[in-house]
Amino acid sequence: MLSVQNLNVWYGAAQALFDVSLQVAPGELVVLQGLNGAGKSTLLQAIMGLSPRVSGVISYENNSISAWESHRRAQAGLGYVAEDRRLFTGLTVLENLRVAARGDVDANEAQVLALFPALKTMLRRVSSQMSGGEQQMLAIARTLMTAPRLLLLDEPCEGISPVLVESIVDALLLLRARGMPMLVAEQNKLLAERADRVITLVAGQLTA
Ligand code: ATP
Repeated sequence: MLSVQNLNVWYGAAQALFDVSLQVAPGELVVLQGLNGAGKSTLLQAIMGLSPRVSGVISYENNSISAWESHRRAQAGLGYVAEDRRLFTGLTVLENLRVAARGDVDANEAQVLALFPALKTMLRRVSSQMSGGEQQMLAIARTLMTAPRLLLLDEPCEGISPVLVESIVDALLLLRARGMPMLVAEQNKLLAERADRVITLVAGQLTA
């Protein structure tokens, strides 16, 4: 359903990705590994249409989306959670969830909170007063409120306490069980062990 062919990305004169090709099939959990600087964030950003200079073909649900603006890709069903989470830190948990909501808001909200029960106990808390792991849950939950049909997650477990990493991995596995396809940049082995496929970037290239 997502297909990337011969993707190259440049920052100025420096090339960050070289001929990257990959696919994410319906319902598949693909984990993207690679050292710091290997190009994981760059790849997710390029799929979302956030990179300055790109060549190659990105297709989603049989449409070539390479020329689409980022917001159109989101509207088409790509849900993206950036490494820095981009929460509205002055807003409460509930406000963060509702600000992005699409479709049947009450039904979505109930589903999302069932996936992240920890958030249920802090709905009125301002998100700047949450731990990194709680904020990460909220960032994923907020993206889910947009009713995406494919998730792109950038290091959801990075710098998070082991207990919350387990909660996040459990939530992602539940989502996969419900058929949500996902491409997750993640170094934590807990998720890679449960992935359908693990792919590895080394210096901007996918290894065989
Ligand atoms: P990390 O885990 O540290 O985020 P990563 O695998 O996600 O690493 P990227 O952030 O995609 O790697 O970086 C890939 C390469 O592109 C690196 O050499 C990095 O320095 C470079 N790069 C990333 N963002 C920019 C930018 N905005 N301008 C210039 N170079 C960049």
